[in-house]
Amino acid sequence: MFRNSRVTVCDVLVIGGGLAGLSAATAAAEAGKKTVVVSKNHPLRSHSAAAAGGINAALTEEDAALHIEETIAAGCGLCSRNAVEILCREAVGVINRFLKNGTPFQWNETRNEPEGRPFGAMSTPRTRFVGDRTGAALMQTAFEQAKKAGVRFEYSVFLIDLIKHGSRMTGVYGIRFETGAIEFFSAGAVILATGGAGALFDITSNGIGSTGDGAAMALRAGVPLRDWELIQFHPTGLYPSGFLISEAARGEGAILRNKNMEAFMGRYHEKADLAPRDAVTRAIVTELKCGRGFGKRGDFVLLDCRNIPPERLFARLPELCDLTETVLHIHPTTHLIPVIPTAHYFMGGVACDLDGRALDGIGFPVPGLYAAGECACTGVHGANRVGGNSLLEAVVFGTRAGQTAAAECADLKTPSSSPEAATEAAASFNERLTLFQSDNENSRGSVETPLDCRRELKEIMSAYCSTAHTTVRHKQGIAKLTLLNRRFARCRLKNGLGQPFNTELKDFLETENLLFLAAALFSAAEERSESVGAFYREDQLYAGAAPYHTATEWRKGRFLTERRPL
Ligand SMILES: Cc1cc2nc3c(=O)[nH]c(=O)nc-3n(C[C@H](O)[C@H](O)[C@H](O)COP(=O)(O)OP(=O)(O)OC[C@H]3O[C@@H](n4cnc5c(N)ncnc54)[C@H](O)[C@@H]3O)c2cc1C
Repeated sequence: MFRNSRVTVCDVLVIGGGLAGLSAATAAAEAGKKTVVVSKNHPLRSHSAAAAGGINAALTEEDAALHIEETIAAGCGLCSRNAVEILCREAVGVINRFLKNGTPFQWNETRNEPEGRPFGAMSTPRTRFVGDRTGAALMQTAFEQAKKAGVRFEYSVFLIDLIKHGSRMTGVYGIRFETGAIEFFSAGAVILATGGAGALFDITSNGIGSTGDGAAMALRAGVPLRDWELIQFHPTGLYPSGFLISEAARGEGAILRNKNMEAFMGRYHEKADLAPRDAVTRAIVTELKCGRGFGKRGDFVLLDCRNIPPERLFARLPELCDLTETVLHIHPTTHLIPVIPTAHYFMGGVACDLDGRALDGIGFPVPGLYAAGECACTGVHGANRVGGNSLLEAVVFGTRAGQTAAAECADLKTPSSSPEAATEAAASFNERLTLFQSDNENSRGSVETPLDCRRELKEIMSAYCSTAHTTVRHKQGIAKLTLLNRRFARCRLKNGLGQPFNTELKDFLETENLLFLAAALFSAAEERSESVGAFYREDQLYAGAAPYHTATEWRKGRFLTERRPL
């Protein structure tokens, strides 16, 4: 074993302390399992805490049936009906549990129930909320419940790769920031809950830490991603940064306008500004392409909140008021907000079944591995996620993954830890790092840093693989990515293992994951030859050009992507 390295042994190991990870961990701990959550930052700083508009929950049977149908319709035929049924039917229980545990949902006194607001693609106001800081409120409750259940937290630990013993995933290793030492975690079951990979793009609502580490770990371990090319671009990112302006704004009555001050969404969809997100994003892109955008370069449209009464705006969208005041020094009661589509959510991820078991390329569970939340693909979102459904998914399927992992790790006859497998995995990592520290012919004179490469990667992905796809663009993007990979190989690290607070190493590892996922994304995007939901092919004018995909595997550099039938 490595010098100074620590080994933690537990029953259930959860990678990620967002809403999915906390839900999974609480369920596993409540089932009596020794459960540890490991995350690269404090759980309350996970992306879930930034979620704004709300969590969907139909409070009656009738509305739950409607929620199911509307989710499936928005998903453009790619949803798994079974998954959606579970999601929508379990929602009321989720809300009741959070209420009981103290989440201060906005209350409707007349109906004596949590207030609902309308969200895109929905016909009834079923998004429950705490102002526009719903994620923070849910996370606070979930964190308290996890602690109460006895979950142990290890944060400031960057996990690098899964450890396999035979075909079973038995743990993971990573680096603790404060010490720079390598650490091992050995478990009867490992649950991936590492969130999305929005950091692949230039303009994104995601934070810099959304680097898809869990998806990359799974791919490197030979576990396929499903629907990886299906990425949601939220219509209203603040211009030019892409910070999210929640759909709650349009839910409360805000309207999109082009440079002629026309409320253009009515021309594109019967639900106008509350159309599904893919439709609104495409409408904005079309308006910009037709020269009806604002600004010197005509590259944004405006969100008009002036018709929302100020007292309602302050009460229900405080975050939006803060954001526009702090960043743009304007107030939404008097000024229009410049917006552009922003990379927001990965519908695809680690393929898994309804109980969170990760699946291999032919659909069998990968022993010991589970996934939940944004890094997983349960099939609830299909080709286009409905706003408010992902917090719900994180809780519903996180809990199921935790329960299943707890039940299945109890069946283990032998302890899962294998010191040899762990040492071997970490030794090969160390060897690779040493290579990046040594000076050789290739690297001599190189001033490349991982962050330079990451910046360029974002530009490539935004230009060649974002809101509209063509084979020509994919080919150009892949060529640029190949060159970038060569440049990345010339990066040299000044500090290696054992160096405390080594941010250079963290940047390096995250960029490496992003480059890996970018290649998988181009490959998956090129394989999908039809337009569906958020995936729009400009070189295929009609949907359903290739109505049925057989499962495909792309095995090159150990990537594997899988596609489901349309
Ligand atoms: C700005 C914004 C607003 C949103 N608003 C809404 C909304 O109103 N309603 C809704 O339903 N959805 C919303 N979403 C989407 C939703 O918030 C996310 O999809 C969901 O919270 C993801 O939860 P998660 O638990 O899967 O991941 P996250 O909350 O992203 O957590 C990931 C965890 O993994 C850890 N991690 C990652 N990599 C590593 C590693 N290598 N080693 C160790 N730990 C690691 C992180 O530290 C973190 O703890 C919003 C998203 C954004 C970006």
